[in-house]
Amino acid sequence: MFHISDCKKFSRCPRLYFNDLKDDTTEYHPFVRLDEKVSDLAIQKLGIQEYFLGSVGDEAQKALDALEKYEWLVKARFEYDSLRVKVPFLHRTNRGWDLYFLFIGIYPHTNDLAFYTDTLWVLENNGIQINDIYMIHLNGEYVRGKQLDPEKLFVVTDCFYNNKNNPTQPIKPTLLQAMKDVHPLLEEMENTTLEDLEPPVRTNKCTGRSKCIYYEQCFPHEEKMEDNSILTLIASSEKYKMLEEGKRYLKDADIERIEGSRQQFAQICADLNGGLFVDHLALHSWLSKIQYPIAFLDFEWERFAIPPYIGMKPYDVLPFEYALIIMHEDGSLQKKIYLNIHDDRRDMAENLTKDIPSTGTVIAYNAEGAEKVRIQEFAQLFPDLSKKLLSINERMEDLQLPFLSGTVYDTRMRGQWSLKSIMSMMDDPGYQALDIRQGMDAVFQWRHLDYNDEVDQEEKNKIIEDLKKYCGMDSYAMTVVYNWLKKM
Ligand code: SF4
Repeated sequence: MFHISDCKKFSRCPRLYFNDLKDDTTEYHPFVRLDEKVSDLAIQKLGIQEYFLGSVGDEAQKALDALEKYEWLVKARFEYDSLRVKVPFLHRTNRGWDLYFLFIGIYPHTNDLAFYTDTLWVLENNGIQINDIYMIHLNGEYVRGKQLDPEKLFVVTDCFYNNKNNPTQPIKPTLLQAMKDVHPLLEEMENTTLEDLEPPVRTNKCTGRSKCIYYEQCFPHEEKMEDNSILTLIASSEKYKMLEEGKRYLKDADIERIEGSRQQFAQICADLNGGLFVDHLALHSWLSKIQYPIAFLDFEWERFAIPPYIGMKPYDVLPFEYALIIMHEDGSLQKKIYLNIHDDRRDMAENLTKDIPSTGTVIAYNAEGAEKVRIQEFAQLFPDLSKKLLSINERMEDLQLPFLSGTVYDTRMRGQWSLKSIMSMMDDPGYQALDIRQGMDAVFQWRHLDYNDEVDQEEKNKIIEDLKKYCGMDSYAMTVVYNWLKKM
């Protein structure tokens, strides 16, 4: 028996589907935190009183029997052919059954239609006459008060949203038009084995919207590629073809076939120069804006689908830590770290305004997409602090800019522009000795503290110590990278 997620993986790539079947080692950490049972909240929104509740392992007949006895079915399992689906909500009306899909996001678009059409295919083939189709999704405008209010937390719509996030495309006709017979796919899935597959061939399914997690497994030779390999060329649609033609290095790139971004230019020049490219004039111009004392600032935060605290909206973030290293003109460094366990945004914002010097430049890596946004949110939340907070933003410079703008490129960056990849080429032990090496690891560890007040004190202290070291490390890395740029 297959599930819709199997069909989705097999359709993207059969090898991906089989790899996933074998792989039970990958620990899944959701990017967004989801503590509350969303379907329980949605039940309240829909005003459902009595209902049939399906569960894992239910015989398909159970849901069919429930159709006779109940007005509402929640998470009922239906099967047809070799496909088994979980249906979020079915409601009996005079004209047939209304179907409700639950979308744990803010704007349901039409980019995952197969999920919905496959469900519809199973229901229709079970002889269930679907009247209307709705989507119940999170309300991006909802601001949480003391208690969660399911009535305002969700929106029920009969339309998909367009690119401008307006509900314009009616769900039912869209799905009926896109619906196709799933049987050929199921048959192919049943009759294919891993051994039947041709050796992996790289396609945009491997590196498209998100890089496939089995990429290194399928193409192990790329792991060992040289720093100046043509495959490190950023956003190049022709790099694989050029490699096949024997153009192995960045310096061999066919100028007529590259997109021509400043980053690509810097990469090719770096290889022609023996590994490093610096636009000295542009770098000097950027550095001349930086004033002492320089405050290197890094935030850590958690994102929640359902707002857990007053004043938060769906998918808002909760900053829980910042690390600040202040570099003075005489070269001395001063370190300040703030960490809270639950919601202490007010305290954090107040401390930030006290810890950051009132003059000088504030530097963050990816400032525009992260630290500036967090401070702007604080300023909106605490108007009495907003003047001080916004003055921090006015003095903020993004350390990522000299790299993203193609001012500096070192082939040891291997086509990556993260702080960690830049730090990895510095003569510095970097992050390797830390228990918390990645930002998301830091978030998962913090969850241990936030979820459970009963975490053993010793474990708690260790997590806090690691989090402080990790967050402090990003700020420290910025001082190393800044000094490196200055030396150049
Ligand atoms: S890397 Fe490509 S070929 Fe390999 S499993 Fe993923 S999608 Fe399939």
